Amino acid sequence: MPRKLFIAGNWKMNTNAASARALAEALVEKIGSVEAVDLAVCPPFVYLSAVGEVLAASRIALGAQDVYYEDDGAFTGEVSTAMLKDVGCSYVICGHSERRHVIGETDELINRKLLKALGDGLRPILCVGELLEERRAEETLEVVRRQVQLGLEGVSGGDVDKVTIAYEPVWAIGTGVVATPEQAQEVHAMIREVLAQLYDQAIAEAMRIQYGGSVKPKNAEALLACPDVDGALVGGASLKADQFAEIVSKGLGG
Ligand code: PEP
Repeated sequence: MPRKLFIAGNWKMNTNAASARALAEALVEKIGSVEAVDLAVCPPFVYLSAVGEVLAASRIALGAQDVYYEDDGAFTGEVSTAMLKDVGCSYVICGHSERRHVIGETDELINRKLLKALGDGLRPILCVGELLEERRAEETLEVVRRQVQLGLEGVSGGDVDKVTIAYEPVWAIGTGVVATPEQAQEVHAMIREVLAQLYDQAIAEAMRIQYGGSVKPKNAEALLACPDVDGALVGGASLKADQFAEIVSKGLGG
């Protein structure tokens, strides 16, 4: 069965109460009834409820940008899976490159978060990707393989299909420098091979692997046409309803 494209917007630490709601309203108007592509947006924690209310009657799902692995207690500043579900999230990003490289999250911490999210019924988007120096040193495949293996440690074959992998080369995130379709396809195919080794071929074929890193309306079509690219995780362009909708329309073949 062909994999259904999945396009998600990561709003990062952007918007305010009014602009988050306005962006969600514009998205609902433009792409809220799209069925052929799965869609999600990941606003900042504090606007999840408000954005969730706007999205409620649409086909756009709500996701969070992070989660903590404990249920509750003395973890100042953290947010639990139950809280995310309470406000209507179905997805959560785990291990975004800014959390790995700005905040300092390790593969072990990301794995704990992913396991907790999965166990509590959220769908994790596991981000992986190499630094520029790692690509230059020809370590891309090794780095990404390790991140996929460690990120999925302890995830059973029965659960892994609820995980989306997002390949996001760090040098392409927020830089305007996008991976070529050939570069993206090479790494996506390798990730699928790793999934086949960790699980089996059927599971690997069913799993969705998004590309992320400076996806814009002008480059989305060629990236989404790659055989192993099953969608996109979009940062900057997801803050503009027109641009995000145009990326979605490229996914619809338009
Ligand atoms: C991201 O935040 O995951 C991302 C890919 O950002 P951008 O599209 O801005 O590069």
